[in-house]
Amino acid sequence: MRTAVVLSGGIDSSAIAWWKKPDVAIFINYGQTPADAEESCARNVADRIGAEFSKISIDCKSIGSGSLASRDALSIAPAKEWWPFRNQLLITMAAARAVELGVKKLYFGSVSTDKFHADGRPLFFQQISSLLQSQEGELIVDTPAIELRTEELVKISEIPKDLLLITHSCHISNFPCGVCEGCIKHLAVLRILGIEY
Ligand SMILES: [Zn+2]
Repeated sequence: MRTAVVLSGGIDSSAIAWWKKPDVAIFINYGQTPADAEESCARNVADRIGAEFSKISIDCKSIGSGSLASRDALSIAPAKEWWPFRNQLLITMAAARAVELGVKKLYFGSVSTDKFHADGRPLFFQQISSLLQSQEGELIVDTPAIELRTEELVKISEIPKDLLLITHSCHISNFPCGVCEGCIKHLAVLRILGIEY
């Protein structure tokens, strides 16, 4: 079965890419502020696993919210970094590319700590997978790490340390700022894993 991963170049999707070795790595520039750094990391990961790199550029910044859109989050946002329906948008865009490429399974890198937003929960992924399977292409969405914390995923995936160290998690910049939610999580995970940086 031909598979693809939605690869942001962050720790979670990079670890899933290493773990599952998909045929295709789909990177999406949807207008997020750190898109250039994310793309560079995603290209590196795709190269290392020998996946075909497929890029989508669709500027959704005008409907973004929160730190990845360089704006204050909407009042209904569950966190500073929250973009309305982002996972739905990303999966829809990736699915359109995936069916073009003959992909049957799409890996998405959500982890257990993403459940603070509704589109990071198992129910959302079951629903969007059912929705896609009911349409042409019969694409399955698989979230193999949905019950794992990032540090557990990293261990299971056996992603090499050097690749882990080049992943990009900063929400506000193409260079790690060290203080945003993305950087704080990145540093905390490396610390838990005992990785020096
Ligand atoms: Zn940052």
